Amino acid sequence: RHLALRREGAVEFYTPDPEKYGGIYSAPVFYNPAMEKNRTLSVLILKAYGKTGLTVCEPLSGTGIRGIRYAVESGAVGRLVLNDISKEATELIKKNLEINGVDAEVYNEDANVLLHRLRDTCDVVDIDPFGSPAPFMQAAFRALREEGLICATATDTAVLVGRYPRKCLRRYGSVAFRTPFYIEVGLRNLIGFVARVAASEDYKIEPLMSYWEGHYFRFCAYAVRGARDADDNFRNIGYLEYKGGLRRVTTRPGASYLGPLWIGPMGEPLIIYKMAEFGPHQDFLKLLAEEYSVAAPWYYRMPEFAVGGRSVTLKEALKILREAGIYSTATHMSPDGFKTDSSYGEVARVLKTY
Ligand code: SAM
Repeated sequence: RHLALRREGAVEFYTPDPEKYGGIYSAPVFYNPAMEKNRTLSVLILKAYGKTGLTVCEPLSGTGIRGIRYAVESGAVGRLVLNDISKEATELIKKNLEINGVDAEVYNEDANVLLHRLRDTCDVVDIDPFGSPAPFMQAAFRALREEGLICATATDTAVLVGRYPRKCLRRYGSVAFRTPFYIEVGLRNLIGFVARVAASEDYKIEPLMSYWEGHYFRFCAYAVRGARDADDNFRNIGYLEYKGGLRRVTTRPGASYLGPLWIGPMGEPLIIYKMAEFGPHQDFLKLLAEEYSVAAPWYYRMPEFAVGGRSVTLKEALKILREAGIYSTATHMSPDGFKTDSSYGEVARVLKTY
């Protein structure tokens, strides 16, 4: 076995040596260093959640790094349940637990089978699959107690943003096509799907954090059981009309609509500010909190307001809008994008007459 010792956060652990296997995708156990921020933010949200002694299940563990970081760094874990369908992965997980002195139950079965067996016992379920989390979401809610956290990563971003509409309809049951604000469409598509699965299991969800980073979407929500509460999910699910630059929310789908999408808040600024206090990724987290304070489920992009070849920078545009009394914020979803509750027409009037 060709192993390499690595360090991430406060944890040292073994991964298959990518140099020996010709890259991370051909290694016998999967570890992606580009997901470090994902794991760090997940540790921070567990800390900010503010509870201890939690039962945390990560049923698609790979090397185990995510679960081990939860145990070592969050101070919130009481019982850790790790699992992978690959035998080699579970052997590596056990080794990594040992060198970090962390206790966990380690299983080698299909994630859905494990989650159903854990029925009603978990406080946190984190779904971190290859591609889409869709096949695991129902079982994730089954494993959850009366209330808890549901987290999911999706790397099938092209499907969620509407590049493959038929696959999107199959996998997520929603209609999506490309728009200038496609990253937000992808995130809201994913959250909308999770909210509908949650409702089918009698859970209400409240997104605490959702974001995009290059090759994946990430989402953590507080979930609470109760049929009446679960009905509330549908207040936050709707259709978005996009026609020639204009955007609007509608409850009656037509030809130019996307959805069903989550049209409610994408996260909770209070918990995000609390996460920011711990230090890592502070600027990113502050930007997220600002974005979450804008209700409109889309962003605008600078090129949409270009006139006569003259262009202002994003920073200048935000200032011009502020001076005109329009609140707007930059967005992590696009380097030339910004979010505001003002309509396209209002924004255009200010930016184009400037
Ligand atoms: N969570 C890990 C991390 O943060 O480093 C990475 C997990 S990797 C993206 C997905 C893992 O899921 C792989 O190790 C794969 O073997 C495992 N897997 C795929 N299908 C599975 C299934 N149906 N049940 C359990 N594990 C599965």
